[in-house]
Amino acid sequence: MYTFKDLGIKKEFVDCLKKSGIHTPTPIQDMSIEGIIQQKDVIAEAPTGTGKTLAFLLPMMNSMVSNNNGIQGLIISPTRELAIQISEEAQKINCNKINILTVYGGKEYSKQLKDSKNSVDLIIATPGRLVDFIDQGLIKLNTLKTLVLDEVDQILLMGFQKEVEVILKNSNKKRQTLCYSATLNTQVKKIAYKITKDPLVIKIEDKDKNDKMKKYLVETTDRWKIDALATILNDTNPFMAIIFCRTKARVDRIEAKLEERGYNVQKLHSDIPQIKREKIINSFKKAEIQYLVATDLASRGLDITGVTHIFNLDIPDKADTYIHRIGRTARAGEKGATYLFVDPKDKRVLSEIETLLGKPLEKVEYDRSRDVININDPLKKKYNKKIKTRSDERK
Ligand code: AMP
Repeated sequence: MYTFKDLGIKKEFVDCLKKSGIHTPTPIQDMSIEGIIQQKDVIAEAPTGTGKTLAFLLPMMNSMVSNNNGIQGLIISPTRELAIQISEEAQKINCNKINILTVYGGKEYSKQLKDSKNSVDLIIATPGRLVDFIDQGLIKLNTLKTLVLDEVDQILLMGFQKEVEVILKNSNKKRQTLCYSATLNTQVKKIAYKITKDPLVIKIEDKDKNDKMKKYLVETTDRWKIDALATILNDTNPFMAIIFCRTKARVDRIEAKLEERGYNVQKLHSDIPQIKREKIINSFKKAEIQYLVATDLASRGLDITGVTHIFNLDIPDKADTYIHRIGRTARAGEKGATYLFVDPKDKRVLSEIETLLGKPLEKVEYDRSRDVININDPLKKKYNKKIKTRSDERK
C-alpha cells in the first residue's frame, strides 16, 4: 500500500490529513490519486464510506493554485446536503488557501451571488443553481481544469441531464472529467464513457464493509409496518438510525406517529426549508436526534458517524437505491445493521435487491403478538425495554 506522499500528495496536505487522523490512503484513494494528478479522466465505482470524496478532492486541491485568475475545479453534486458536506471536507484540507464557493438552491442566493464575483478557484455546486449562474454570466468555466460528477448515476438519471449538458457545453474542452458513484448501471456507464476520454476505470468492492453490516429482512404488511418498526426499535435500541420512506407524505405521517409514541425523532425531505434541513442534519450529526425519518434525499453521500441502524420502512423503487440507503451506516470502519420491511407486493424489488447483493437477506423473527408500547406511558414503561438516552451512551 502506497502512502499519500508516494501518490504525489504534497507534504502540507499530508500534514493536514494527519491532523484529521487520516494517515493511509483507502483503496479508492490509492487507485485514483496518481491518475488524477496526471490529468487522466476517471470512471469510478466505489461503495459509500470508503473515502470516495477525498479520492478526487485531494489530487484536485493538491494541483490548485490560489487566485489563479479563473475557476480551476468544479464538483457537481446531486443534492444540497452532499454539496455542503463536500465543501466541509474541502475546507478541512484547504492548506493552499484556495477560494471555495458552494452554490446550491434553497437559500443564500445573494451571498452566493456576491461570493461568485470574487476570485473563485473551486466550485462545489448542485446542477440547477449552477446553470442559473452560468446563464447570468456570473460563472465562467472556460478555465476549468477538472470537472467532477459525484454520485453521477443520480445526477444523470434523476432529471439533471439538461443541466449537465449546459455545464459540459460551457466547460473548457481541455479539462479532465471524473465520474464517481457508489453504483453505476450499464445505462449510466454508457453516458459516463461518452463524457470522458480514455478514462481510468476503477471498481472497488468493499468486502470488509459487507462483514461489518448486517442486512435483515422483516416480512410484514403495509398495515402492520409501524408496529413492526416500533417492536424492532424497542428491541434493538439503536444509538442513531435513519428510517427511509418512499414519499414526503409518508415521512410526515411516520414521523408524527413515532413522535406520538415518544421517540426522539425528526424528519427530512425536500419540502422542508433549506435552513431547517441544515439545522436538522447538524443536530443529527451531534447525536441530539436519535431517529431521522427521511425520503431518499438522505440516501446519498451523507456521512454521519454514529448511524448504527438503517430502517427501510418502505422498499425503494430500485435496487440501487437500497445500496445507497444502507451505505449511511457501517461507515469508516464502524458496524451497522439494516432492516428492510416488505409487504407481499414488494417481491419483485426484493428479488432484485437480493440478486444485486448475491445472497438472500436474513429474516428477522420478531414477536408480532406483543403489544407495542408507548414509551412515554409511565404505566406501560416498565414492560418496555429501557430506551437508552444520550447520557446513557456517554456513560
Ligand atoms: P466518503 O466515502 O468520502 O464519504 O468518506 C467516509 C469517511 O471516511 C469520511 O468521514 C472521511 O473523512 C473518512 N476518510 C476518508 N479517507 C480516509 C482515510 N484515508 N483514512 C481514514 N478515514 C478516511
